[in-house]
Amino acid sequence: MPLMRSWVESANAPDSPFPLNNLPYGVFSTGDEDPRCGVAIGDRILDCRAAEDLGLLDFGTGRLFDVPFWNEVMEEGPELWERLRNTLTGLLSEAGGARATVEPILVAQADAEMHLPFLVSEYTDFYAGRHHATNVGTMFRGAENALPPNWLHIPIGYNGRASSIVVSGTDVRRPWGQLKGPDDAAPRFAPCARFDLELEMGAIVGQSSDGPVTVKEADAMIFGYVLLNDWSARDIQAWEYQPLGPFQAKATATTISPWIVTREALDPFRTNTPAREKELLPHLRDAGPMLYDIDLEVTLAPEGRPATTLARTNYSVMYYSSAQQLAHHTTSGCPMTCGDLLGSGTISGPEKHQRGSLLELSWGGKEPITLDSGETRSFLEDGDTLTLKASARGDGYTIGFGDCTGKILPALTDPFAR
Ligand code: MN
Repeated sequence: MPLMRSWVESANAPDSPFPLNNLPYGVFSTGDEDPRCGVAIGDRILDCRAAEDLGLLDFGTGRLFDVPFWNEVMEEGPELWERLRNTLTGLLSEAGGARATVEPILVAQADAEMHLPFLVSEYTDFYAGRHHATNVGTMFRGAENALPPNWLHIPIGYNGRASSIVVSGTDVRRPWGQLKGPDDAAPRFAPCARFDLELEMGAIVGQSSDGPVTVKEADAMIFGYVLLNDWSARDIQAWEYQPLGPFQAKATATTISPWIVTREALDPFRTNTPAREKELLPHLRDAGPMLYDIDLEVTLAPEGRPATTLARTNYSVMYYSSAQQLAHHTTSGCPMTCGDLLGSGTISGPEKHQRGSLLELSWGGKEPITLDSGETRSFLEDGDTLTLKASARGDGYTIGFGDCTGKILPALTDPFAR
């Protein structure tokens, strides 16, 4: 599908992240006004609350936009999602004739502060990147035991904390934690010295489930996608992770990009999962192309310095799709809820410059990487700003997500000071 033209001229540039083909959903505020739902178009935001006040978004459901989150829209289900998207397309299309009505309720993105776009009900993070799992497994357990025996049969995950999710731009404070002592020495409580990022996509579950769902049903339950940085304290993780998996190492913060890019906007970019080494059991088998061709980039800017690109990769390298992860999540009867967030797992490609974490890029700190400024990094330093970017390239247009960024603040001097 080619670029769909909007009367918002900035949306028609081939490299604009927010053309009419995208229409991602966020929550924004301006000045001292309350946060409200909005849709990005070019360098503007359509104020959905104002549009609803004007009667432009009436679907016979009662008000959807008197709250500063998208959960009420999600709960209505896929039929409403499609009607809303069609209506918004009509309002913003060059051919639609709604410019005079809609232009007064557009806000400049430059004047807006972004907030979490939805109420995160629960958060699960997966480990579905084969190259990432192989790299980490090799470092932690040796090349022969890199992939656990279950890895090629189920998407491995852990239950994270919804309370840890923050929107892009939120500062992240270096955590304290219990760290292994050298050899047989006692563990110590200290600031994390191996603070890291994980480049991931987040899938937002828009519909609740009660009982197991198929992969195809799971795909239809997904409302949209965001970029996700699963901040990870590697030294805390190495001490605590056996046998129940990560806990405090992943609980400090998880940053997501501000705009929910809908499944519909990403439809032209669907791709298949890689070839299966072992056939999956029937309930987890691929039911169509459910990964996406999305270019990804990680940059790091030391305090007061320009950014260096650390890695470039693509979401399509993942072994399991979010739909497969969601289907697997429900197999036990686990109820999924509207607003559930599923982290894809770290997205690393096969090449060294395609690795989605510093743990892999610096090979556990053994091979520090050199930034454009000449400084080196094994892990994140205080004052570093880390940014994830994503784009899908269409025919004359780009689908962007908005940056997923966070700056590292120094650890507290004494976390128990009162
Ligand atoms: Mn992760």
